[in-house]
Amino acid sequence: MVTKILGGGKEVGRVALYNELETGKILVDYGLTPEEPPKYPMESPPVKNAVLTHAHLDHSGMIPWICSRFDTKVFTTRLTAEIAEILYRDTLKIADAKGHPFPYGEKELDISLNKFRYIEQNQRIDFNGFSIRFHPAGHIPGSVMVEIENEGIVYACDINTIDTHLLKGAKPIKCETLFIEGTYAGVEHPDRKELEKAFLDEIEDIVARGGKVIIPAFAVGRTQELALILQRRGYDVWIDGMGIKITEIMLKHRDYLRNADKLKKAIKEMNIVYSNHGKKLALKSGIVLTTSGMMNGGPVLWYIDKIKDDPKSAVMITGYQVEGTNGRMLLENREIELYGIRTKVDCQVKFYDFSAHAGHSQLVKFIKDCSPENVVIFHSDNPQAIAEEIDFANIYIPENGDEIKI
Ligand SMILES: [Zn+2]
Ligand SMILES: [Zn+2]
Repeated sequence: MVTKILGGGKEVGRVALYNELETGKILVDYGLTPEEPPKYPMESPPVKNAVLTHAHLDHSGMIPWICSRFDTKVFTTRLTAEIAEILYRDTLKIADAKGHPFPYGEKELDISLNKFRYIEQNQRIDFNGFSIRFHPAGHIPGSVMVEIENEGIVYACDINTIDTHLLKGAKPIKCETLFIEGTYAGVEHPDRKELEKAFLDEIEDIVARGGKVIIPAFAVGRTQELALILQRRGYDVWIDGMGIKITEIMLKHRDYLRNADKLKKAIKEMNIVYSNHGKKLALKSGIVLTTSGMMNGGPVLWYIDKIKDDPKSAVMITGYQVEGTNGRMLLENREIELYGIRTKVDCQVKFYDFSAHAGHSQLVKFIKDCSPENVVIFHSDNPQAIAEEIDFANIYIPENGDEIKI
């Protein structure tokens, strides 16, 4: 086999793996890094078949470009397709508002959505000589690891191996060649139970002292996981932004969730913000879960503007903040861009690592349990940290543009 790394080599973002296998050519993911302006992968050669592992834009963002250009069919789960559509439309809206040129528009998007073909988690399908099985990846609802059974290859693009409230962890798959993400190579996550307790205790403290708590959260996965965590102490929580719509979609596809009834109950017990009046009520009440997770847009900015001068209140960040985002600036400099103006923030800023990716030891264990002969590490700033711990397989750490021959 030959795989060309079109994006995601020694970097976290814009994953694109172009594979020439015995059976034929297949593209695995075609993403973009949603920065300002976005970073795109290298141009893919014409390809008839692609698989999409999950809806995050760093894996899915350029799929419409490839579909509309080469008439490519995209195999993915039904839930991934539905979430991706919302993210695509939102991305086009943002591109339009910011006025930067974008590689595709509504027309290309509509053509592409007709090219999606569905495989369910744990299901195998055969087409054009490929036998492809999707395994749950534990990362976000709908996410999968892709096994090409007749070739002995597994693509583990973004996985989480621990059980969370929302999803069961990914299970290893025996294979000859394993492509694996290394987002947290060299970094361990805190114990999840302790983290949850500290998070909830801190919220309780802040509210007890008369402060407000604003929790920025990614719409896909994090909002739902936090809803399940917050619900356990019965707080009066308000939810605002894109997470509401994404949750509704997830609840239509119950099989992808660990416990759909629990999520339904958690959301039902929260107050939903529908209007500007709702925003005011939410703020008055005190705990708001809202998008966007990296604070580059969405209702979260309105809330931060209202609490930014109050040292009793807090912004509780719950996920990784990419360089160049408002969230990163807030964490590092206590500043945020509000309505185009860089503004000082005097309220508290806290960080809780509710990651949806496996940590270092979890990745190493996962690789060992797959017992592969070849391991390709990508989607990582520090792939060497994992390579050092694997002595039983050939390790590949490709850069963008490299071709791996196995
Ligand atoms: Zn992801
Ligand atoms: Zn990713």
